[in-house]
Amino acid sequence: MKPLDPRLLRRARAARVFLAASVVIGVGTGLLIIAQAVLLARGVAGVVLHGEPIVSVAWALGAVVVARALLMWAQEVVAQRAAAAVKSTLRRQVLEHSLKLGPVWLSGERSSALTTLLTRGLDDLDPYFARYLPQLVLAATVPAGVIAWMATGDLIAAGTVAITLPLIPIFMVLIGWATQAHSRRRRRALSVLAHHFADVVAGLPTLKLFGRAKAQEAAVRRVTDKHRSASMSSLRLAFLSSFALELLASISVALVAVGVGLRLVEGRLGLETALMVLILAPEAYLPLRQVGMHFHASADGVAASEEVFRVLETPLPASGDRTDVPDLRTTALQLYDVTVRYPGRDEPALDGFDLDVRPGEVIALTGPSGVGKSTVLAVLLGFVQPERGVVVAGGSAADEFEPTVWRRQFAWVPQRPGLRMGTVADNVRLGRPDASDDAVRLALIGAGAGELGLDKPVGEQGQLLSGGQQRRVALARALITDAPVLLLDEPTAGLDADAEAAVVAGLRAGGRTVLMVAHRPALIAAADRTVEVGTRELVNA
Ligand code: ADP
Ligand code: MG
Repeated sequence: MKPLDPRLLRRARAARVFLAASVVIGVGTGLLIIAQAVLLARGVAGVVLHGEPIVSVAWALGAVVVARALLMWAQEVVAQRAAAAVKSTLRRQVLEHSLKLGPVWLSGERSSALTTLLTRGLDDLDPYFARYLPQLVLAATVPAGVIAWMATGDLIAAGTVAITLPLIPIFMVLIGWATQAHSRRRRRALSVLAHHFADVVAGLPTLKLFGRAKAQEAAVRRVTDKHRSASMSSLRLAFLSSFALELLASISVALVAVGVGLRLVEGRLGLETALMVLILAPEAYLPLRQVGMHFHASADGVAASEEVFRVLETPLPASGDRTDVPDLRTTALQLYDVTVRYPGRDEPALDGFDLDVRPGEVIALTGPSGVGKSTVLAVLLGFVQPERGVVVAGGSAADEFEPTVWRRQFAWVPQRPGLRMGTVADNVRLGRPDASDDAVRLALIGAGAGELGLDKPVGEQGQLLSGGQQRRVALARALITDAPVLLLDEPTAGLDADAEAAVVAGLRAGGRTVLMVAHRPALIAAADRTVEVGTRELVNA
């Protein structure tokens, strides 16, 4: 983990602005700390030597304190603003990037993990901006300023601080190395425990059924015990290490104090200078110690931002920028020798697939589950890049075209309908936002869902509708577009015979080209021809 991730500064302008503001505030704070020490020393020396307080010094001291409070307030305000702005920038960038990466990439990601990352995960950046970064800036500015000012009054004390100061980061690193193995062991125990718990809870009905639930108690107790002792030992380490750092800083200050005291007694140092040095010395060590503390507090946020950068650095599939996509109403579409291999798979999902789609044709893709039918549709939509072979339209390869313009030629009904919160009509209008109520109703009838009211709410992910209803709403959403090619992934799964007949009738109504993944005989019978996916393997075998 680096002290400051340059990617954060590169990706988010707010982070750069914040860092600049923090430097200004940090320098200001450093100057005020010095002024405060100087004024305090002068005031105390005045009382001791002349026996009465100096009014102007008291006023100046008050002003310095107020100014420090104002700077702290300003720091807090900029930090909260910066954190909010950076989080929203990163969220937007990840959303945009995952949209470009497409649904196939998303299905390879654990989408729940991505959701947590984008919501709560990034919130962990708050302490990073509000505590850690300002402290890092202070650690870089204050000690240097303090030592420089001390040197004007007492070179020896300044030298002592300059020599002992680096010991703190050195010890921090040493302690960090020593505790790394420990915290790794603790994290492992925790993840074992989490898995075990999840396993036991998920399997509880089965365990109960076979009378084995009690036996799990001992196992859980053993894992918990291990976790407890690991936690205790890392707590011990944490206390010990902060004790060591505290001790180091105290001894260093004591060294300075002893030297100053001796020189004061010998008369080689004035009282005011000696006081100034003594007040300033602890201030030099403080920011360094605190930066270590906040470093750990913001570790979660840094881990979240690293996860964000992993997503953002996933390369986008290569794509062209031509916008003159041929109209597939009149142009044939061909797939030549298309072979797709998903990352992490040895077997190709689709092997040397050929297909010739003439305008207006209704083609049924058939074949057993897992043979690559959905993959054919994903290739056409440009969601997956074939490792070999091409999609050709009007003499040009599909990947020469700008993806969003290319996709306008297609209306897609995926295997999982993917409805949004809102009404049935809202979801159908995703296909054509300016569609009139009549057009929406017509599309619903064409999809065999004429019985659904336009204002019926669909719930989260369509949960208020049955599976078959969701599918038909998704189909209506595709039918209402004016895309020349319909790509349907098992459009009649979960539909009764009547609804299926309505869908079959609706398919041909627009005279569009239809490429559909079909299992059911009625749907297959409605097609002009049937293409068996994955047959080449059988021929080769
Ligand atoms: P079908 O639609 O014919 O049932 P698919 O095209 O969905 O088959 O999948 C073909 C093969 O590719 C299957 O073995 C499936 O497990 C695999 N597959 C599909 N999508 C992915 C993915 N995103 N990542 C890895 N493997 C995948
Ligand atoms: Mg499929």
